[in-house]
Amino acid sequence: MEKELISIIVPCYNEQEVLSMFRDEILKVTNGMSEKYPHLMFEFLFINDGSKDDTLKILRGFAEDDSRFRYISFSRNFGKEAGMFAGLENCKGDYAVILDADLQHPPKLIPQMYEYVKDGEYDCAGTRRISRKGEPKLLSFFSRSFYKVINKISQTQIVDGAQDYRFMTRQMVDAILSMREYNRFSKGIFSWVGFNTKYIEVENTERAAGTTTWNFWKLLKYSFEGIFAFSTAPMNLSVIMGFIFILLAVAMVVKILICGDEMWGDSLIITLVCLIGGIQLFCIGVLGQYIAKTYLEVKKRPVYIISETEKTYRKRKEI
Ligand code: UDP
Ligand code: MG
Repeated sequence: MEKELISIIVPCYNEQEVLSMFRDEILKVTNGMSEKYPHLMFEFLFINDGSKDDTLKILRGFAEDDSRFRYISFSRNFGKEAGMFAGLENCKGDYAVILDADLQHPPKLIPQMYEYVKDGEYDCAGTRRISRKGEPKLLSFFSRSFYKVINKISQTQIVDGAQDYRFMTRQMVDAILSMREYNRFSKGIFSWVGFNTKYIEVENTERAAGTTTWNFWKLLKYSFEGIFAFSTAPMNLSVIMGFIFILLAVAMVVKILICGDEMWGDSLIITLVCLIGGIQLFCIGVLGQYIAKTYLEVKKRPVYIISETEKTYRKRKEI
């Protein structure tokens, strides 16, 4: 049987505590797969997203111990989205898997994902959280509301609880790479490109070690990214609101003209001024969001910048 390469892509930001645990775990799983399917080969591509701890040192060690381990180190922190993109862009596999370093995405699911995808029935297998155990109640509430809102206003449907843990074919990887946008919202991109996806339902798993970099505000910002990247509904909403207020103003003028000079209280005027001022600000804000995004897109900045890979490191050491 012809050889097939599976690329394991792991974005890492300050993950020194879990990396060796992760390596043991992933090797256990992939060695098991190679035994069952001798034609399978693996490469492990770690993305060091500007970590401030010893992540890079550990990754250098991995690459020295085993030539299947590669890494890309960014010149600074570019965010997980950039990490995943760099992984996909630089992987060589016939299949690619993206998973977190903290073991919240259990590697033991990879064989099952491979089973779904290998016969061509599915192009992608991913995981979907069915419980939000261990997550603050308020956060769960906001997450759920986010999915409801975005699925109402955007044509790109985003599955509630779908994680970034995915096993996909080369065709799907290439499709994702063909989306060159700078403001990357993977949950939307995965769904926008289409393809047949099988979701495996999983329970929420806690981090094996280290700490999460997410907090409420970061998540809120991320959800707005998603809305502004995949829907223009907020912009339409501001147009509709503006239109309603113009109609209202016309109606009021007509009423004054017909009913004569009625007494309009000062407070009413102030209220109206505030109301209309507020709505204008709101609309300008919405518009500004899209202009800001457009601005970033037209600059065509790279999504990430590489400062070191296992190859450049080896070369430098030889000199
Ligand atoms: N991560 C990254 N860059 C960042 C933040 C996170 O590459 O700026 C990686 C991190 O190392 C981990 C994955 O993205 O492998 C998920 O991050 P985290 O566990 O902090 O998020 P959570 O699981 O809490 O959503
Ligand atoms: Mg995590």
